Amino acid sequence: MEDINSKVDEEVNVVTRTEMLRQLDSLQEWDVIVIGGGATGLGIAMDAASRRYRTLLVEQADFAKGTSSKATKLVHGGVRYMAQGDLGLVREACYERGLLLKNAPHITKNELFVIPNYTWLDHIKYTIGLKFYDFLAGRLSLGTSKYISKQETLEALPTIKSEGLKGGVTYHDGQFDDARLALNIAQTAIEHGACVLNYMKVTGFIKSNNQKVVGVEMKDVETNRIFRAMGKTIINATGVYVDSIIQMDRPEASNMIRPSKGVHITIDRSFLPGEHALMIPQTSDGRVLFAVPWHNKLIVGTTDTLYDKAELEPEAVEDDIAFILETAGAYLTRKPRRSDVEAVFAGLRPLAAPRGEGAKTKEISRSHKIMVAKSGLITITGGKWTTFRKMAQDTLQKAIEVGSIHSSKCITARLPIHGFQESVDRQNPLHFYGSDLEKLNQLIMANPEWAEPLVEGYPFNRAQVVWAVRFEYARKVEDVLARRFRLLLLNASAAIAVAPEIARIMAQELGRDSWWVQKELDDFRALAQAYRGNPILETA
Ligand SMILES: Cc1cc2nc3c(=O)[nH]c(=O)nc-3n(C[C@H](O)[C@H](O)[C@H](O)COP(=O)(O)OP(=O)(O)OC[C@H]3O[C@@H](n4cnc5c(N)ncnc54)[C@H](O)[C@@H]3O)c2cc1C
Repeated sequence: MEDINSKVDEEVNVVTRTEMLRQLDSLQEWDVIVIGGGATGLGIAMDAASRRYRTLLVEQADFAKGTSSKATKLVHGGVRYMAQGDLGLVREACYERGLLLKNAPHITKNELFVIPNYTWLDHIKYTIGLKFYDFLAGRLSLGTSKYISKQETLEALPTIKSEGLKGGVTYHDGQFDDARLALNIAQTAIEHGACVLNYMKVTGFIKSNNQKVVGVEMKDVETNRIFRAMGKTIINATGVYVDSIIQMDRPEASNMIRPSKGVHITIDRSFLPGEHALMIPQTSDGRVLFAVPWHNKLIVGTTDTLYDKAELEPEAVEDDIAFILETAGAYLTRKPRRSDVEAVFAGLRPLAAPRGEGAKTKEISRSHKIMVAKSGLITITGGKWTTFRKMAQDTLQKAIEVGSIHSSKCITARLPIHGFQESVDRQNPLHFYGSDLEKLNQLIMANPEWAEPLVEGYPFNRAQVVWAVRFEYARKVEDVLARRFRLLLLNASAAIAVAPEIARIMAQELGRDSWWVQKELDDFRALAQAYRGNPILETA
């Protein structure tokens, strides 16, 4: 067994966190230092490393711990932004959508969305609107939109209300697993030579005599050890935290971000069986609402409300949950109730603060913005998960223009992302491992006792926990359950129930003691309670 185990380790050829800490100690100066390991920062690290810049990325928690694991899971042009007239953003996002589905087919898919129409006016409006959406996608279109009859709409979405239904429109967009894609982007960056560290928090800047930012000070959150790294270009890609980083450079700078919270709930697939997603184009607060099949559950959302502060785990309140249940319930024959909610998760959009009386967050452009401070610090904010690649390209282009790094060509438009596989067997519940699946299976063959499922009804086993620690940089129980397995977002109670076993396996792998196990369990339970949405269970 030992031999096959070490053979698997050799074949996977992972650069460990310890090895990357050594790199951090030994390299004198990096070309690019990225602060923030969400979609934006990781995209920049992948781009920079693949252009052969010496690249360091540091993330204060786990990769995608912030907004980047709480998305609606759409790789999309944004039908809503088209209605707002933001055609440049839609065209760009449709193009990026096409590239991402080609570069990461194991973790993305082409999804058919159905809009049910209950008035003839809507029927005409959405049929024409979506033709324009097809047109904007150009040659990277995922398929054309179609007008469908009432009968066809009910066949596509068997559980939606038929009363008053006139017909529907179908269109194509992409769908993905956000946190796992973030991990795969980190792995791609590492494979191109980047040093990418989770649990490393930037605490301050190092400045030259002429007040240029020339390095960062960081703290290893696990050991409290302080590190310093010098860099030619320093990029602030910290999402809703960009202001706190800007203020490390310029304490007097005013806040430019006003976070906006988006909440999702997870319910059973039986509320909307079948393969297609439901899109509700006009909620009572003027937004769109999606009900999307995901890992054999249905996720429904989202909301859009201003939030006071930057937080990694913003709180979903009962009003958010009630709004989603009510809106979805108005379209479904079986209304989901509060007790049907298996998980609740919330993320913050890093939006530019709305200006002017009565300005609403949903009206603020989602385009990204890049700013260069006098100190040379580059900040990128806004954008979408879907456009992370273009955001990275634009950020590095800006760094080249201001002369902080030499010119080099971007190659990410056709760069396969870790796990890439030409053909994907989507019937296999573990297909999202992509090309890693074969090696994961070898690990199971070497340790057949690890094959047994850990949670009834979900495809997770012990080998995957070991895999997450050895090859996917998981450091905490939460990393495995929230972002490697996604179970916390699928069913928070199931995640709480399996946490002790996950902690036990991780402690063995990481060489931790019983104190660590207890602390991990306390931390995880406190977090997971919030994902249950502090339920007030219905008795009816
Ligand atoms: C509810 C919701 C739904 C969405 N749905 C979609 C969707 O379906 N499709 C789509 O394309 N887009 C979607 N988006 C947008 C998309 O999720 C975001 O644009 C994207 O995830 C932002 O990524 P980011 O890297 O900029 O921010 P984040 O993911 O928040 O990453 C910033 C990181 O910086 C780290 N950090 C902060 N301070 C420090 C420090 N001092 N040192 C080190 N690290 C630090 C944080 O820990 C965090 O991990 C959605 C957004 C929301 C809120």
